Amino acid sequence: MEMPKANQMIIDAKPSIVAGLAQLLPKDAVLHYLNDTRPYECDALAAYACQPLAVVLPRTTEQVAAVLRFCHAHAIPVVPRGAGTSLAGGSLPTADSVVLSVARMVDVLETDYPNRFIRVQTGRTNVSVTAAVEDEGFFYAPDPSSQLACAIAGNIAMNSGGAHCLKYGVTTNNLLGVTLVQMDGTIIQIGGAYMDSGGLDLLGLICGSEGQLGIVTEATLRILPKPEGARPVLIGFDANEVAGACVSDIIKAGILPVAIEFMDRPCIVATEDFAKAGYPDCEALLIVEVEGSDNEIDLQLALIKEIAMRHNPVAFRESKSAEESQKIWLGRKSAFGAMGNIADYMCLDGTIPVSALPLVLRRIGELSQHYGLGVANVFHAGDGNMHPLILYNANKPGDLELCEAFGNDILRLCVEVGGCLTGEHGVGVEKRDLMTVQFAPADLEAQLNVKDVFDPKWLLNAAKVFPLDVSASRRATSV
Ligand SMILES: Cc1cc2nc3c(=O)[nH]c(=O)nc-3n(C[C@H](O)[C@H](O)[C@H](O)COP(=O)(O)OP(=O)(O)OC[C@H]3O[C@@H](n4cnc5c(N)ncnc54)[C@H](O)[C@@H]3O)c2cc1C
Repeated sequence: MEMPKANQMIIDAKPSIVAGLAQLLPKDAVLHYLNDTRPYECDALAAYACQPLAVVLPRTTEQVAAVLRFCHAHAIPVVPRGAGTSLAGGSLPTADSVVLSVARMVDVLETDYPNRFIRVQTGRTNVSVTAAVEDEGFFYAPDPSSQLACAIAGNIAMNSGGAHCLKYGVTTNNLLGVTLVQMDGTIIQIGGAYMDSGGLDLLGLICGSEGQLGIVTEATLRILPKPEGARPVLIGFDANEVAGACVSDIIKAGILPVAIEFMDRPCIVATEDFAKAGYPDCEALLIVEVEGSDNEIDLQLALIKEIAMRHNPVAFRESKSAEESQKIWLGRKSAFGAMGNIADYMCLDGTIPVSALPLVLRRIGELSQHYGLGVANVFHAGDGNMHPLILYNANKPGDLELCEAFGNDILRLCVEVGGCLTGEHGVGVEKRDLMTVQFAPADLEAQLNVKDVFDPKWLLNAAKVFPLDVSASRRATSV
């Protein structure tokens, strides 16, 4: 993975840049010593790291605007950052950039239960949004597995999803409005505490824009009343393809579970060692969860059982209590941590039509043999959002490059079968160079033109999302 050469003039000007930033923010909100900035050198795609020039930690929208105005005036690149859990390298800094982290912007600004919304500063973690409203019987639906750590800022920038998004949709379906600071420091309001607004759908544009168009400092989020009840079943199969076919049949039958999660044997074994969730010894398992009243749950689960039985499952376990439900989910929620315990891994994120699952799982197995690298599959199967985890050894020369080539082949396969390069993790640097596989030159040009409007100097997160050769002429104007 290549990054553009840092601008030496900016690096040389570090003392005056730091002094300028220190005039805009409290002393402890500007970090510039290497030991202080080291935690910001990478995100969760830890294979790539680079020390930024400085890190700023504003507390208010006005402070964010002041920093951006300063950086805009001096043509200093800015990398927006939430909690740094991106798996696509979205918040990876460059050596000539200022990382603007919203981690200190965590306040709840407004809650309105009759109208079902909450307004928060975007540094607030995903899980703490639900925590702020659950005593009143509400929750915030998008639930990335990283929800303990990741911030609403990153969720909006990546249009994040999670296990329960099959029913409730991803971030864009639960976002009502944002406060956005543009690169020149202009503060704008987009959307609000209502269903839709007139004019162009700028909210749709901002959600998923990966820190390319502005910095989101506040968000109005839809909150929902907690469902009456929920119950998961765990179904084990003797082959990945059979589990894939079962998912396809459940969706075809018109049932809408709240979640359908898939894990294959390597992932089950690692998870059992790590979390001891009591999963069956099988090649693949599904966790299917449905919601509603007891009657509704019984009806849906009866149908799901009937479909599953047609695929000869080796295990079918229906939760009978809150403790059993928690145990069924425990393994799935610990899966990434468990894999990290046994090897370095790169977590991919592609989306395919659900009906292509059996074929794609088989091809991934064949590619794994071809490259000689292990792969574990854990993903949101209900909406076709796959997360193959490629295992490699970061200390073995050549292994990372092999892993990258394997990953690229999987993502090309996703596009080939009618899917796309990302389901929820975004493009970042990880999939940047594959954008030409998905988009024709005219499609890409249209996207570049949008960035030109919001960030004409190409200072915001400019080395991400678009292949470097495609964005080269625009980035050159910022130097
Ligand atoms: C163990 C693990 C499990 C995960 N599970 C899921 C999952 O189930 N579903 C899922 O969707 N993702 C998942 N992720 C990926 C990651 O957590 C999400 O992409 C998350 O939304 C990133 O949030 P963050 O606050 O950490 O963002 P960061 O990593 O800090 O940044 C992500 C992107 O957002 C931009 N950005 C950050 N703040 C702002 C801002 N204020 N304004 C504009 N742009 C901004 C950054 O420049 C970057 O491009 C997982 C990650 C890990 C490590």
